[in-house]
Amino acid sequence: MTETLGTAVFDDWVQRFAQSIADQRDDLTALDSAIGDADHGSNMDRGLRAAVAAIEETAPATPGALLSKVGMTLVSTVGGASGPLYGTLFLRMGTSLGDTATVGPEQLAAALRAGLDGVVARGKAEAGDKTMYDALAPAVDAFDSALSGGGSLADGLVAAHKAAEAGRDSTTPMQARKGRASYLGERSIGHQDPGATSTALLIASLLEAVTAAEAQ
Ligand code: ADP
Ligand code: MG
Repeated sequence: MTETLGTAVFDDWVQRFAQSIADQRDDLTALDSAIGDADHGSNMDRGLRAAVAAIEETAPATPGALLSKVGMTLVSTVGGASGPLYGTLFLRMGTSLGDTATVGPEQLAAALRAGLDGVVARGKAEAGDKTMYDALAPAVDAFDSALSGGGSLADGLVAAHKAAEAGRDSTTPMQARKGRASYLGERSIGHQDPGATSTALLIASLLEAVTAAEAQ
């Protein structure tokens, strides 16, 4: 079973994420219409379509260059909060990977951690604020713990995926303290956060891409 990932797996990750965002665009927008301005699905779909086009056109040679290209494209094509936040996430992952041609589990863990740190640097979200942080941080933590407990790359990603979905679900009873949803105060309670929902798709897509690569 392979424990190193080449550029093709990262390309596949982005493609799968773009497809799942396209498939769930209306659901993401419905979540954002309850506690925001009904554009999270269209924001993410526009950004990911542009990102897929950009990597198809420029064919970045390394995982780091590919993720950086995705990040730059998201920052420049998505106007909402999610553009700079997801853009920073991908840019920081790209920078963390540098120009390595293949990525091992520890390097992927470091890149995900750097991406999470970037989201925090940008948006200042903390646990319980009802944002994408509440899905991403538990996923990154679960990935780290699985690896430090001797787990494989696949074990780590299965744990990260479970944690991201649990984190997404945990946002429903939270009161929003960041972003547009915070303007609603207590009325934000009882709705699942759109950004945490798209982040669970991000981690699901990573698990799928790595699983597909390992099956080959
Ligand atoms: P906008 O809020 O500008 O309309 P989107 O609808 O695309 O942008 O994205 C909203 C999502 O962005 C929220 O559901 C939340 O998860 C995330 N978000 C908003 N502000 C922050 C922040 N400061 N830190 C982390 N995530 C945030
Ligand atoms: Mg919105």
